[in-house]
Amino acid sequence: MKKLILIIFFSLAFLSCQTSDKIENVVVIGGGLMGSSTAWELSKYGQPVLLIEQQDSIYTFGSSFGEARISRSLGPNQDIFSFLQQTSVSETKNLIDFLNDGELEELHAMEDIYTTSPITYIYSKSRLNEVEELLNGQTIKYEYASNSEEAEEKFGMKISDSIMVIREFKQYSGTLNPKVLIEKLHKGISKSGNRISYNQKVTSLKKEGGIYKIKITNTKTGTDKIILSKKVVAAAGPYNGTLVKEIAPYFGSLISPKRLFLSFLKIDSVKYDMLTIDQKKKLKESYPVAYLNSEIFYSMIEEFNEKDSPLLKVGGHFLRTDIEDLDKVWSMDLTPQEIKWSKENTADYFMKLDLPIKFSDLEYVRGYSCVYSLTASEIPYVSHALINETDIDSSFVLIGGMSGVGAKGSLAYGLVAADLILRKRNDSFMYQKSKSALGTERLIKDLKHIAN
Ligand SMILES: Cc1cc2nc3c(=O)[nH]c(=O)nc-3n(C[C@H](O)[C@H](O)[C@H](O)COP(=O)(O)OP(=O)(O)OC[C@H]3O[C@@H](n4cnc5c(N)ncnc54)[C@H](O)[C@@H]3O)c2cc1C
Repeated sequence: MKKLILIIFFSLAFLSCQTSDKIENVVVIGGGLMGSSTAWELSKYGQPVLLIEQQDSIYTFGSSFGEARISRSLGPNQDIFSFLQQTSVSETKNLIDFLNDGELEELHAMEDIYTTSPITYIYSKSRLNEVEELLNGQTIKYEYASNSEEAEEKFGMKISDSIMVIREFKQYSGTLNPKVLIEKLHKGISKSGNRISYNQKVTSLKKEGGIYKIKITNTKTGTDKIILSKKVVAAAGPYNGTLVKEIAPYFGSLISPKRLFLSFLKIDSVKYDMLTIDQKKKLKESYPVAYLNSEIFYSMIEEFNEKDSPLLKVGGHFLRTDIEDLDKVWSMDLTPQEIKWSKENTADYFMKLDLPIKFSDLEYVRGYSCVYSLTASEIPYVSHALINETDIDSSFVLIGGMSGVGAKGSLAYGLVAADLILRKRNDSFMYQKSKSALGTERLIKDLKHIAN
């Protein structure tokens, strides 16, 4: 009897953790903006790839959660972030063309993802040199008000002489919708014949004999299985540190997740109805905005309600707090101070816009906690791992530490990650500049820095 129980026990254990005989070519772990972009870029190259995501096919939490991110292009001469944003826009066009290819009518459009609108930047006078550098030889169309008189004339704004205003105008600058972008990337991956495994959480990632052993738990049934792969791309957002702890443990100290908050505010409907058509137009044209003060207040229109009144999303780029439990942080409520800060800064912006909307006219609708994955320099990594601190492991790429800048460059980061894993060359100057800023050369320097 004892023997029989033991046989049943071991058979069940074996069945609940099956190892596939098949060795995958590339496995991408994490189906947020970065992993989905990487898996799409690999699919675009005609490569077999498996994308693994712990959530269901509808993305409900993670750094990419939401329906609006600022997509801005303006930057100083040879700025890598402008290059990455513009590359992402052109890669997104490829995706749209691919999705429409073979369809009887055009089912997909850039406008499903991007809302083109002016972007307003507010700077304090102390950053005049930075502004001058930004605008020197600038090829992107912009308007600039260096003092209160020009701000009144160009934007109808009432500001003090201690601040300056720039407004960027470019197609596909404005906001992008991460939810829609993820859906379209997944469609592109599937249409290429590649697979996406949802509800599969990677619980262990090891490399044995040159092959990755990836243990996966089905989040619905609790069953485990092991899959094998020649190459792996880690794109688990804030969970990257935990995911790669056995193969590249240093990423855990180079990337730290921090909590941020997002508030959603609406304008009192009576007050909004009282605005003139011109005032409503002005409000619409004045979003998104980034006030580059010490906290970096940023705000954008998440959506319009049936009466065309905007729901404003508000956050502070530097208002970050430590995280005690990464799994629980997403459900943390906003503090009364965070809600107050959101309303105060929005009311202050309306005052600058000379619109008659006050603190008391703003209603907090909802809010949620979210996570930035931060590197020391706030520049993301798209990098191979290292063996013995200097030798490159070209079978592995990590894409992470995306801070608050990742979304606008999504497909460009994915392209760099795909090129790295396939060892594809691109010798263009800006591509190389971005690759070194994000990649392994930088990782080696960062590791030396933390060792000293
Ligand atoms: C509040 C906020 C505002 C932002 N604003 C802007 C902006 O205005 N403009 C801009 O350009 N960028 C912005 N960003 C940055 C941008 O949204 C992020 O850089 C980007 O979404 C990061 O995507 P990701 O794929 O790296 O991470 P995630 O979206 O978190 O994706 C990681 C995925 O991996 C999955 N995963 C994790 N662990 C496992 C595992 N073990 N097994 C299987 N799957 C796993 C997760 O479920 C998740 O889907 C903002 C970010 C935040 C948080």
